Amino acid sequence: MSLKVDIDPHSGFCFGVTKAIEAADALLGKGEKVYCVGEIVHNQAESNRLELKGMKTIELNQIQDINSGTILFRAHGESPLSYTLVKDQNLSLKDATCPVVLKLQKRIKAAWLHQKQIDGQIAIYGKPGHPELIGLAGQTNDEAVLISAVKDLTQLNFSRPIELFSQTTMSPEEFEEIVAIIKSNADNPKHVLHHNTTCRQVTGRVPRIKQFAKDYDLILFVSGKNSSNGKVLYNACQSVNPKSYFITKPEEVERHWFTSSDVKVGICGATSTPLWLMEAVKDTILKL
Ligand code: SF4
Repeated sequence: MSLKVDIDPHSGFCFGVTKAIEAADALLGKGEKVYCVGEIVHNQAESNRLELKGMKTIELNQIQDINSGTILFRAHGESPLSYTLVKDQNLSLKDATCPVVLKLQKRIKAAWLHQKQIDGQIAIYGKPGHPELIGLAGQTNDEAVLISAVKDLTQLNFSRPIELFSQTTMSPEEFEEIVAIIKSNADNPKHVLHHNTTCRQVTGRVPRIKQFAKDYDLILFVSGKNSSNGKVLYNACQSVNPKSYFITKPEEVERHWFTSSDVKVGICGATSTPLWLMEAVKDTILKL
């Protein structure tokens, strides 16, 4: 039996995450004390790598206990309150918010200011508690209605104008379903504005990863458990290849998953999965 193990060339860090990791590596390389607000990326192995180099991961409310060093904002973005906390503490800031998220924050803020004038509402489709969603809602002084599923739509007032956005890592198909329900319930569907602001770095990967998963006997999907796009991409793999396994690290690879007919094994991952981790999984399989 000849075993073939390939890593999906389209998996791994998106440009927003790459930029944030590079910023952290550059600061640490200069010997600076770096405090990242929240997990730099939804991948424990990559966070551990940077923490071994000296980076500290902190909660937002810990900023007030820091007196020197650089605060790093990760790709997910932050709410205006976070910027105020850094300024009040007189600390230097490296803002590695992804340019796509930054642009979305500005759009939401402008839409919120407009909707206030016409008695409208801002709604954001996203994952509850996700840092990007917190940063987006912060642009509306936390007045936006957060929609994680159809059940949350009851919080909207359908007799008033509604403007809907999406967190970048949500599924575009589910976003369109939410739009259709809002329009069918609205007193005046013309007063419903919707912007599919899911990120193409994620959505473009769904068809590509499906194609990749179809071509292999067995798929090992590597991702942090709390990565939103990791869930979307893993589900995409499973929809076309039921022999798809979700792992967070090489130690989780199980020998019994492999049968003699599994000669082609594909490894892929989320936009927060480092290439070195997928390579470590490949090495583990080859040693089995
Ligand atoms: S998924 Fe898109 S929006 Fe999110 S960090 Fe990556 S490039 Fe930026």
